Amino acid sequence: MKNIVILGSTGSIGTNTLDIVDRFPEEFRVIGLTAGSNDDKLEAQIRRFCPTFAALASEAAAEKLRGRCSDLPVKIFAGQEGVARVAQSPDAELVISAIVGGAGLLPTLAAIRAGKQIALANKEPMVMAGALMQAEAKKHDVRIFPIDSEHSAIFQSLEGHRREDVKRVILTASGGPLWNFSREQLQDVGPERALQHPNWKMGAKITIDSATLMNKGLEVIEARWLFDIPETQIEVLVHRESIIHSLVEYRDRSVIAQLGLPDMRTPISYAMRYPERMPLDLPSLDLTEIATLTFFKPDHDRFPCLQLGYDALRIGGTMPATMNAANEVAVDAFLQNGIRFLDIPEIIRSTMEAHTPRPIAGLDDALEADRWAREKAESLVHALTR
Ligand code: NAD
Ligand code: MG
Repeated sequence: MKNIVILGSTGSIGTNTLDIVDRFPEEFRVIGLTAGSNDDKLEAQIRRFCPTFAALASEAAAEKLRGRCSDLPVKIFAGQEGVARVAQSPDAELVISAIVGGAGLLPTLAAIRAGKQIALANKEPMVMAGALMQAEAKKHDVRIFPIDSEHSAIFQSLEGHRREDVKRVILTASGGPLWNFSREQLQDVGPERALQHPNWKMGAKITIDSATLMNKGLEVIEARWLFDIPETQIEVLVHRESIIHSLVEYRDRSVIAQLGLPDMRTPISYAMRYPERMPLDLPSLDLTEIATLTFFKPDHDRFPCLQLGYDALRIGGTMPATMNAANEVAVDAFLQNGIRFLDIPEIIRSTMEAHTPRPIAGLDDALEADRWAREKAESLVHALTR
């Protein structure tokens, strides 16, 4: 029996995680659940999984939830601090980090500092402050298990091999819902179309990131810190079918990859039960049915965000946090029909160009860059929508 906390339990990763708990009730005990503002969904989850603690980032929603759960023994916290408190629940052994965006940085770091093992879906904190997170993990004897499908694939492909034998890692990218669009077509794409991902059903923010290829930019940086590998050894390959989840090439030119039908429950369960593999009752991969796997080089002209990710990583310091914050603001504005699809990379680029990077010595440096970049990006959005 493993005691778990889920940060972001009402989201796409959160509900997939609870689906695994549902299938294996004798394996996991849910100690804590947290979400942003969805009190309806969190109440239903509390009634189903009976956690000791819960939290909502929205104070108003937390107050409502308290009233509605007054018949239950659950203790409900509010605000960002409340979420961080649940992340440190005394009995918890494993924290599933599945909040979307930079909002996950403080609670995930709090969990690490409390010595909890981490199953990490929330990639943005690794982008903002990867070196810091890894240093804290080392200090508190914490392992960070990747949930992101590409990173789970790399993690699995590295198992049993010597790190010095690695030549490069190759992250696969589906190319997202707009891969076949011309630049002209991309001009006029609205949120509804950009949200139709061919292979994965995910939250809105990561689906737009997938459409711009910023998701892969974020994942290159995530890989840098998860596996302590320099960016010169990280490559990206567009693979439309999302069957090969990523690959590692070794110096004898042998390539090890991990394959499977796209279903996040496979990498989630591996991160939750490592090194054990759970008997998941899911369809098997039938390669004769798939028949063809296709591969392309990324197109930096139509999708400039991937290169911005590499640039931010190379520049280092506060630049990745700046890029991430500008992206969050731009994606939000696009989802609200405030800006056009191709404005997203322009806002990120302009924010990065206006930023003077500084080293990240502590958490405050990352948070300050995040705050600065949000303000800058918002002013750029404002100028476009005036
Ligand atoms: P989602 O939007 O479906 O869910 C996000 C969760 O975070 C929700 O529970 C929401 O209530 C909570 N939340 C939002 N804002 C918050 C705040 N300010 N404070 C506290 N909680 C807040 O997102 P998702 O698709 O589940 O993605 C979660 C993370 O996992 C992202 O970082 C994403 O990049 C990563 N990821 C997701 C997938 C996927 O298949 N969905 C795959 C790989 C990686
Ligand atoms: Mg991924």
